[in-house]
Amino acid sequence: MSAIKLKNIVKRYGDGFPAVNDVSIDIADGEFVILVGPSGCGKSTLLRMIVGLEDITDGELSIGEKVVNDLPPRERNLAMVFQNYALYPHLSVYENIAFPLRLAKAPDDEVDTKVREASATLELDEHLERKPGNLSGGQRQRVAMGRAIVREADAFLFDEPLSNLDAKLRGQMRTEIARLQKKLGITTVYVTHDQTEAMTLGDRVAVLKKGVLQQLATPRELYENPGNLFVAGFIGSPPMNFLPAEVEGTQLKLPFGTVEIGEEKAAKGRDKGLLIAGIRPEHFEDASLSDKASDGSTFSAPVDFVEWLGHETYAYVPFEAPAEVKERLAELEKDLDGEGLRTQLVVSLDGATTIKQGEDAKLWVDASKIHLFDPSSGENLT
Ligand code: ATP
Repeated sequence: MSAIKLKNIVKRYGDGFPAVNDVSIDIADGEFVILVGPSGCGKSTLLRMIVGLEDITDGELSIGEKVVNDLPPRERNLAMVFQNYALYPHLSVYENIAFPLRLAKAPDDEVDTKVREASATLELDEHLERKPGNLSGGQRQRVAMGRAIVREADAFLFDEPLSNLDAKLRGQMRTEIARLQKKLGITTVYVTHDQTEAMTLGDRVAVLKKGVLQQLATPRELYENPGNLFVAGFIGSPPMNFLPAEVEGTQLKLPFGTVEIGEEKAAKGRDKGLLIAGIRPEHFEDASLSDKASDGSTFSAPVDFVEWLGHETYAYVPFEAPAEVKERLAELEKDLDGEGLRTQLVVSLDGATTIKQGEDAKLWVDASKIHLFDPSSGENLT
């Protein structure tokens, strides 16, 4: 097993702007790192450079202690697990797993020991004689991983392995991959455009936009302290609300009213004019259900639409924003590949709420969770 080090990696196709632009990521031995971002952000290119299927224009790639920029793929000892698993339909599970060992002309007893060990780890022992066509998607995925295990690869690389599965199977497979990766302790790099996969699988997540690394952090850090508007809008479902805002004294003026944010946060946004406040839907509450109504963070808002989901209720509140904020948010929506950024406030409330469409709702907001962004740079000021 090995650490993987990307140092100032650049990839240019022709003379357009780089598909991967000066990306540096240190992946520790045994770590599970996710590369995530909207279509075209360069995540597959980055993975293909690691595995050796794509030349590196500039920068340095090391695996373990060794710089591997010019090493052909077969000498890098990495196992790529493809979306379609690349299994041989006419071979049994046993022979599919054994395949790399047969290629290397390993003796039969060694093949047998390794295949049986791997299939025990992967709980495939009972299926060794079956053909891939008679396996579930999850079992096929495990066979593909089995093949990587017997090779004793230094790292697993996954490129959107779950993208053509239905939602239920995707959920199951996600859990399975996470469990196996922890059990095997093998360095893993995993590409996805799905933020839920990124958040649930990764020890750390690298968020990319247009070839540039936006933030590399644990899922919790990304959620709690997104570095900029892009990361804030990408991580979280429903997505974070973005509202025009201005700091006055220790208060934040929002379209629905004023919220007390305390000196420390206020100081970071004071005298900066119009800002964008970021508030996650789940950081609002129905003030009539709690005793928080009198602490200075409540306001009244006209509810336009309500969706009841049982354990929670989404309420939608339209708001007006100045043209410059609207323009900024439209640009952000484009960057995010239209991943559902909304031009109305969305609040996620306890399912017990009796808030109704067409009425004013009394909402409480957790002021400690409000982020303030610089509208031009997108930087999180708080
Ligand atoms: P997706 O999720 O859609 O696969 P991605 O984030 O994996 O996207 P890449 O496939 O890495 O993105 O592509 C990054 C950029 O490089 C894109 O603008 C893409 O058009 C460009 N690109 C990728 N491969 C080539 C190529 N062989 N020749 C020219 N440009 C390419």
